[in-house]
Amino acid sequence: MECIFCKIVNGEIPSNKVHENEKFLAFHDINPVTPVHVLIIPKEHYAKFDETPAEIMPEMAEFIKQTAQKLGITDYRLITNNGKNAGQEVFHLHIHMVSNPQGKLKWPKIT
Ligand code: AMP
Repeated sequence: MECIFCKIVNGEIPSNKVHENEKFLAFHDINPVTPVHVLIIPKEHYAKFDETPAEIMPEMAEFIKQTAQKLGITDYRLITNNGKNAGQEVFHLHIHMVSNPQGKLKWPKIT
């Protein structure tokens, strides 16, 4: 079965988009854990960070900065869960951008 984030990329599943270009997409997490919780993905399917070519990272980093600008936030945390035991549930690389524009983010429980 096709990956859920691939379905978001091809429009089979709707998403609340923040930013998009030909290679990357940013959309709001359906189950936000912070006031701002956005997922940033490459449109190409890579199961996880480990399996993603490092060559795409400079462009992805630029896209992430543009996403923050679009959201109007300057302070945010980036997280990627690499593998099941790290908490990964969707196996299409995604970077969580979490932020609380009204205050300070707590450091979450990480075990
Ligand atoms: P992870 O546990 O790192 O794999 O994160 C997967 C994230 O995808 C979770 O935060 C989910 O809330 C989010 N998610 C799952 N399905 C959707 C969807 N259809 N639209 C937006 N976010 C989703």
